[in-house]
Amino acid sequence: MSLATRVVLAAVSGLLALHATGISAADSAGGTSMRGDWLKGDLHIHSHHSRDSSNNSIGKIVRFAEDQGFDFLAITDHDNHVDGDVAAHTWAAPEWRSDKVVLLYAAEWTTDRGHGNVFSSRPFDEVQFHRIRDARDADILALKRRMKVHLSANHPTNKDHFGFSYDLVDSIEVWNSSNWAKNIPSLAVWDDMLKSGRKLPARGGSDAHHGWPDTSADRSSNSIERLANYIGTPTTWVYARTRDRQGVVDALTVGHSSISANPNAPRVEFSVDHDGDGSPDAMMGDSLRATGKAVIFHVKLAQCDIPWAAYQVKVVRNGETFGTYAVDAEKPEVTFTDTPPERGRSYYRVEVQGPQSAYPAVPMSAGITGTMVALSNPIFFNFDPNF
Ligand SMILES: [Zn+2]
Ligand SMILES: [Zn+2]
Repeated sequence: MSLATRVVLAAVSGLLALHATGISAADSAGGTSMRGDWLKGDLHIHSHHSRDSSNNSIGKIVRFAEDQGFDFLAITDHDNHVDGDVAAHTWAAPEWRSDKVVLLYAAEWTTDRGHGNVFSSRPFDEVQFHRIRDARDADILALKRRMKVHLSANHPTNKDHFGFSYDLVDSIEVWNSSNWAKNIPSLAVWDDMLKSGRKLPARGGSDAHHGWPDTSADRSSNSIERLANYIGTPTTWVYARTRDRQGVVDALTVGHSSISANPNAPRVEFSVDHDGDGSPDAMMGDSLRATGKAVIFHVKLAQCDIPWAAYQVKVVRNGETFGTYAVDAEKPEVTFTDTPPERGRSYYRVEVQGPQSAYPAVPMSAGITGTMVALSNPIFFNFDPNF
């Protein structure tokens, strides 16, 4: 067996016991074993509590998510539609409950300066947060911290894009709806934010406003959205320590997450062997201290359900293409090596293109998603201010 083969096999087996992450390699080397499960969900959905929604009751959304096997869901109605009526909070509705799907407390912060999604493991005062929308950023940030909620910049280059300081946000919606083409500029914004030194995780969200299949008489809204975009297009995956609200929010905040075109599409795992012991030390979302020595990165596509499929894995380093690698469903993984500079910040992330896996519940979504299959969050070097 060649050394390269042994390294690959060791890296694959190491994925089963990923070490504690989010801290320096020195700290993690002897750390406790990280445990978690991959959970899938949608983080941007509108129900009938949003006035621009139709045919999309909370009950219908929850039933669909349960039937499709989603693990979590954030119904993010526009907070300006609550009009100060706390009884109108999405989570106040009797049908906002599920024994199968973890329902986050969530709302879309809807302001003249743009939109952001608020996620929380506990109920929060969305009316108070909406009322501060015209304040200075520092005051908004202070309130957000007091409320202990996660704020995520929505559709950053489309209508109603997030127009506040990115100091306020914990993540960015780089993949909004199944219509991938409109997200391409968002990737550039994300890379610019990362290059500026921000450790900013990405997430997805369908932003579906209308129930599918569309049986309503009101067909005034966007027809593409009605036919080809619904819960799970795209799907955000999180590697959660616990299958509960806090577990999902924590994974989003650190960036232990990736995005796939739909729940049946391949899920990308991205990890690194930092100390050269043959097993991964960290995964996407983690920040490591660069040592000036070469490290081994590993990309794996889980749940490749198309036997003939060939995928292109593009690695982006600091906003530029580092390399592209061909993988297929038979061996859906690749290993590469690089030496992150000892000084300065650098990051690596992965994009996967290829054929779309079928999503029978939203059959026309593949037609407008094109070839974008999955995105990873970055692995960061020297992004921790203590390094
Ligand atoms: Zn919006
Ligand atoms: Zn929205």
